[in-house]
Amino acid sequence: MRSITLSTGKTVEVECLSCALTSGLVKPDGGAVIETNHFHAHQDVAYPIKGLIILASKRHIKSFDELTDEEKLDYINTITKIRKAQREVLGIEHVYYFYNEDTTHHFHTWMVPRYEWMNEFGRSVESVRPVLLHARHKMNNHENIRVVLEATKKLKIALTSF
Ligand SMILES: [Zn+2]
Repeated sequence: MRSITLSTGKTVEVECLSCALTSGLVKPDGGAVIETNHFHAHQDVAYPIKGLIILASKRHIKSFDELTDEEKLDYINTITKIRKAQREVLGIEHVYYFYNEDTTHHFHTWMVPRYEWMNEFGRSVESVRPVLLHARHKMNNHENIRVVLEATKKLKIALTSF
């Protein structure tokens, strides 16, 4: 078992966070923004940044080359829909995508929106870690959590209409 600290400060003990989230064992704030046959997408549970969405497979796999043809199609269609929703309802112009295979969780892609306030942490990829830590330590307040939840709700509504 591993101990994972959520953005709410709550700690959960799980084998695999992605399994826990996609199976409903751990419920992310705001719930799933979209759920398909093979994937589950939700607001990130560790870093309170509005529109930061994690797209996780339902199967416990680690690598792209483990995806079936059906999952590949579902993945690209779902990530595209989420991207469209981020643009349309949150006005997000740029997104950084991260996916690492040596994760302790299973297959999941981070969709990190790039906002103006992030510029003070650097211009590109190198700023991401400081941005995430800043969010965790300095933006974990009621007002921002409300903003994040509101964004999650908007994305969810948009995604049911595509
Ligand atoms: Zn898993």
